[in-house]
Amino acid sequence: MASTASSQKLSQKIELQQFDPQELKAWIKAQALDLGFSDCVIAKPDAQDQMPRFKEYLKRGYHADMHYLEENLEKRANPTLLVPGTKSIICVRMNYLVASPKSRYVPFEPNSAIIARYARGRDYHKVMRGRLKTLATRIKEKVGDFESRPFADSAPIFEKSLAESAGMGWTGKHTLLIHKKSGSFFVLGELFTSLELPFDEPATAHCGSCTACIDICPTQAIVEPYMLDARKCIAYLTIEYKGIIPEDLRQGIGNRIFGCDDCQLICPWNGFAQTASIPDFDPRHSLDDISLLEIWQWDEATFLANTEGSPIRRTGYQSFKRNIAIGLGNAPYSAEIVAKLQEAKIWHDEIVNVHIDWAIQQQSRQAIVHQIEK
Ligand code: SF4
Ligand code: SF4
Repeated sequence: MASTASSQKLSQKIELQQFDPQELKAWIKAQALDLGFSDCVIAKPDAQDQMPRFKEYLKRGYHADMHYLEENLEKRANPTLLVPGTKSIICVRMNYLVASPKSRYVPFEPNSAIIARYARGRDYHKVMRGRLKTLATRIKEKVGDFESRPFADSAPIFEKSLAESAGMGWTGKHTLLIHKKSGSFFVLGELFTSLELPFDEPATAHCGSCTACIDICPTQAIVEPYMLDARKCIAYLTIEYKGIIPEDLRQGIGNRIFGCDDCQLICPWNGFAQTASIPDFDPRHSLDDISLLEIWQWDEATFLANTEGSPIRRTGYQSFKRNIAIGLGNAPYSAEIVAKLQEAKIWHDEIVNVHIDWAIQQQSRQAIVHQIEK
């Protein structure tokens, strides 16, 4: 979404002649690493080449009900319309893993509640913006005053494409950015600046003939290489979407209650994934190891207390419970699960109750199978 302040003009002309451009760029990158960023590249403020594919994506309706994506197309394509006066964009990334994952996808214990790794700790947006502001301050101390604006997933910006155009990695067939030496478990941020810095070169792509992410996707959301249908993607359904999740997708969701890492976990390049250099992503409230039944019993006050400063807050209590209900429906049969589902119906809204009913039905089916197999 465009910030109201984003039209602020980066008009200040800065005399950089006294600095060797390459040396200044290297110095900025060193400062970024010192601030805990995992990488830093300088991108040209131009993403025109993304438009044909993005328009096709919108035309096919793959953006689901994220209608804000239909707006500000010109600003997306041309970042100098978003922040006039922008001459270069400092793109950074932060690794968010706290432990190296296995290089291949391993099925999880079905009674566990699985939360996407980026969301188990503190919400990264504030951390990212705060550090980008500090980076801007350090640069000002060196070169003098100039204009800048930090962004972290907060404006109509093709952030992956800009970072890719400057060598931060390549877009994999799952549509995420991959770095050859660090995999894809990272988040991105940008500092728009009025500085005329030399741009970095794009990296080469290395997906080759691999289709592992397409094949593993539990809901077949990657409909063709580099094209993701959000309407089927578990990350969209469990985080952004507020309604009744289509029944044919509920089994595929399994026990993923907030987001999904499967296409990243299977990617061979994540054998090189690096861990975070800051503690903000450390899991809170055992969100890396909590059972479906335990988290199901969080009441709204507990949810609000335990998700303060966490990206999970964004989905809201009722949608969170909706997701856990699906997980419980997909769990192995348990009389305790059925009892907890039944007693919860009075506390939830109609949308959650639709999923509770479905989960009880699923559990009943499994109970019959359980009896037959005895
Ligand atoms: S996040 Fe999950 S559901 Fe979405 S494309 Fe990747 S594997 Fe598929
Ligand atoms: S799993 Fe394979 S195809 Fe998918 S992003 Fe990784 S390398 Fe590319």
